[in-house]
Amino acid sequence: MTAPILELVAVAKRYPVDPSFAARLLGKVQEVQAVIDVDLVLNKGETLGLVGESGCGKSTLARAILRLEPLSAGDILFEGHNIAGLRDTQLGWYRKRAQIVFQDPSSSLNRSMRIDQILAAPLRLHRGLRGRRALREAAGELLHLVGLDPAFLDRYPHELSGGQRQRVGIARALSVQPDLLVLDEPVSALDVSIQAQIVNLLDGLQRRLGLTLLFISHDLNVVHHLADRVAVMYLGRIVETGPVAPLYAAPKHPYTQLLLSAVAQPDPALRHQRVAVTGEVPSPLAPPAGCAFHPRCPHAMPRCSAERPVLRALPDGTAVACHLHD
Ligand code: SF4
Repeated sequence: MTAPILELVAVAKRYPVDPSFAARLLGKVQEVQAVIDVDLVLNKGETLGLVGESGCGKSTLARAILRLEPLSAGDILFEGHNIAGLRDTQLGWYRKRAQIVFQDPSSSLNRSMRIDQILAAPLRLHRGLRGRRALREAAGELLHLVGLDPAFLDRYPHELSGGQRQRVGIARALSVQPDLLVLDEPVSALDVSIQAQIVNLLDGLQRRLGLTLLFISHDLNVVHHLADRVAVMYLGRIVETGPVAPLYAAPKHPYTQLLLSAVAQPDPALRHQRVAVTGEVPSPLAPPAGCAFHPRCPHAMPRCSAERPVLRALPDGTAVACHLHD
């Protein structure tokens, strides 16, 4: 087993709903708990898929890991160094080691800059490259790495297709030679045919460069193709985690069963019986007591609304937070 590159310990992120002065004065600030007590480990060189419905806290967790926003609580250890409490000015080394690729390549690239200018900025800042020729050469190599012709250096983002723009987004993330890449729904804004190309590109880059990937997606088929391990999130918490094979073959948490039963699965061995679940995802402003999934769970019992289940390790290498498996 390889050493952990990233460890999350009881990470939490809360947002005030009404941060107005009057509300604060009266002590009535309500909070949304976007991420609650997340413990997670990423080992060097592995791909961890983080899955869950929209609004479950996946993207918030990604931004917290990259320290794009301060944490409300918890620790983030990168190769043993706690970066949770560091100020922005102390995070320079971390910004070189951990990078993010956003969902929408159209909004994450500056439309007024050419591709060579977009790539030159991090090359100059983080790798200390100087001179037009050296920068252009390095930028061209990055485009080559992500399967684009260096001739694209002279184009603007709006002159590229969605898939080409996402390749540039990946090239920009790789420009600082990171060890950890956080990919926040990197293919969900793309056509299905292009999605497969980008997923294959990421798979190849991970192997060639020995990257560690945190791949965030609501598409369980893509995660199955790419990831070594999976973590399932519901209303801000991890409810099940484990290696891809046992988790996809026999999901334990009723929410994971629901997600997998809704997937169009070409492999009959991985096809799951349709799970009938009622109700909507509850508001994170007022999460249900006990197990947050209990209002929708077909197996809910009286204990479930009173006692929150904790994540427990099982003999097959998975871990699940459900009273059915206590
Ligand atoms: Fe369902 Fe209870 Fe398990 Fe929650 S703890 S998933 S409500 S059985």
